Amino acid sequence: MSIPASRPSVFGPEYVRAIAPYIAGRPISEVAREYGLDESKIVKLASNENPLGMPPSARAAMLKELDDLGRYPDSNGFVLKGVLARKFDLPDTWFTLGNGSNDILEICAHALVEPGQGVVYAQYSFAVYALAAQEVGARAVEVPAQAYGHDLDGMLQAITPDTRLVFLANPNNPTGTFVPAAALEAFIAKVPSHVVVVLDEAYNEYLPVEDQYDAIAWVRKYPNLVVSRTLSKAYGLAGLRIGYAVAQPAMTDLLNRIRQPFNVNTMAQAAAVAAIGDTDFLQRSAALNAAGKAQLYAGFERLGLEYVPSYGNFVLVRVGEDEGAGARVNVALLKQGVIVRPVGNYGLPQWIRVSIGLPEENAACLAALEQALTGQSA
Ligand SMILES: *Cc1c(COP(=O)(O)O)cnc(C)c1O
Repeated sequence: MSIPASRPSVFGPEYVRAIAPYIAGRPISEVAREYGLDESKIVKLASNENPLGMPPSARAAMLKELDDLGRYPDSNGFVLKGVLARKFDLPDTWFTLGNGSNDILEICAHALVEPGQGVVYAQYSFAVYALAAQEVGARAVEVPAQAYGHDLDGMLQAITPDTRLVFLANPNNPTGTFVPAAALEAFIAKVPSHVVVVLDEAYNEYLPVEDQYDAIAWVRKYPNLVVSRTLSKAYGLAGLRIGYAVAQPAMTDLLNRIRQPFNVNTMAQAAAVAAIGDTDFLQRSAALNAAGKAQLYAGFERLGLEYVPSYGNFVLVRVGEDEGAGARVNVALLKQGVIVRPVGNYGLPQWIRVSIGLPEENAACLAALEQALTGQSA
């Protein structure tokens, strides 16, 4: 049978074909293969993972679930929502579980935005906001950054009658900037009620005590606010894919209509229950991060490199003046077995983003960076 000449070779809507797929941090095994390196010597500081790995409490909780994996997970996440309900002193009707908080961001776009309607987010904010907007055919409105962070007035001005969603990361990734609580609440209060604000707090657990704020109190007050959290960063569960949203019950009910029935697997639910209860692990993670951040700052200063002060578990650092600097230094680091994140795709071609690791990993990264920049090892 011959294939008719008129057979279409282009599929899908134009707004899907226009998507540039997400670029993930490179896996250790792939870099080892490509550069002929020993996997065990590679330092990965590319995806803002917890350098302590997963909490031992989560590992133990998962082992107990192994024999039950022949069954579907609890679609409603009863036990985990119970833990969240107690943690935040809210009914369990305020929580949506996600396959990572990435899932939460996409659920929000699908539940709230029609093709052609507007989604507002900042320049240099998380790449998934643009993807979530594009995959529903929304009009993506990127508001120029101010000092690498959010320009809240500019974002308010970008809102039009057809805007349905605003994504805002606090702290922001990949820049690490932070909007203080007072400015943030003033912003949320001014957003028109037909627009939903998704406040993405993926790095909330790393905030110093003096900067911490109670976004959950705002959720009680504002029906158009969704707070998103993840277990991938400070809680050390990135490989399991688990995050959650907090929103009023009417909003939560809407999100639940879009959510895949079994979007969060059994292991992830069990691990999250254990990790959320493991305040000791969380404290150790935050302390290690604070020390590692000081170590990286000192190293960058010694090398004369500009960096953006960070409120997360990573630092954005400028490694050269020319447009090829970030990509070039990235390759020089890869050859030395250090994986960081080039951010040219974010419009920051002179910069790289370095996740904060263990003290010896940070030291290895700084030594490799010195070698890359000066041809000399420390
Ligand atoms: C890492 C990250 C997330 C989501 O990560 P998940 O692993 O999908 O939970 C969300 N927002 C920001 C800003 C992030 O950096």
